[in-house]
Amino acid sequence: MDILKNLQEIQAEIPDNVKLVAVSKFHPNEYIETAYSGGQRIFGESKEQELSKKQATLPNDIQWHFIGHLQTNKVKYIAPYIAMVEAVDSYKLLSEINKQAIKHNRTIACLLEIHIAQEESKYGFTFDTCRDMLQSGEWKSLKNVTIAGVMGMATNTDNEQEIEREFLSLKHFFDELKHDFFNDQPSFCEISMGMSHDYRIAIRTGATIIRVGSKIFGERVY
Ligand SMILES: *Cc1c(COP(=O)(O)O)cnc(C)c1O
Repeated sequence: MDILKNLQEIQAEIPDNVKLVAVSKFHPNEYIETAYSGGQRIFGESKEQELSKKQATLPNDIQWHFIGHLQTNKVKYIAPYIAMVEAVDSYKLLSEINKQAIKHNRTIACLLEIHIAQEESKYGFTFDTCRDMLQSGEWKSLKNVTIAGVMGMATNTDNEQEIEREFLSLKHFFDELKHDFFNDQPSFCEISMGMSHDYRIAIRTGATIIRVGSKIFGERVY
């Protein structure tokens, strides 16, 4: 496995307006340093303890994205440094991120995780619960978080039509939210979708952020 080669192939193929998150969860620091030496600066992790350990020892100009389910009691540990929380799935979590961001005098970018897959999942807003949350307007008082867009995961399937349909549903939902709630906010601009096996479909259907792990770093050993 050649991390630099894998990375360069993906970097070369994605358009300028699409950001690549290199998903380094379960991989050692050396792998991250290799990708870093290839110019990669955005890395994604899904466990607080693993991330905090890596963050403490790796270069300071890495932008860390939290891509997993984040428990509210863990927010305080990542609040000092996290660049983006990609999977905000409740108002309670958003509010806690705001509270911790205030303590560090920061503004933290967040994406609203939307459940678009056919599979059952405990996580993510449905379209309706997300609309309701935004409609209530309470989020407008959270001055230390920026709602920067939406994030979603397609069904784990080989059926490309199905994946495309789900990504398009997220793109359309983004457009709706933009129109209804964020029209005057340029910072609401991100659609994070697409992983190793479906990032090309994601780019075609409007992704601005893709999250790629195994295609860069190889299979994870859990
Ligand atoms: C692990 C993970 C990825 C990366 O998955 P790969 O298939 O290895 O590219 C992307 N997004 C989320 C939310 C993940 O948990």
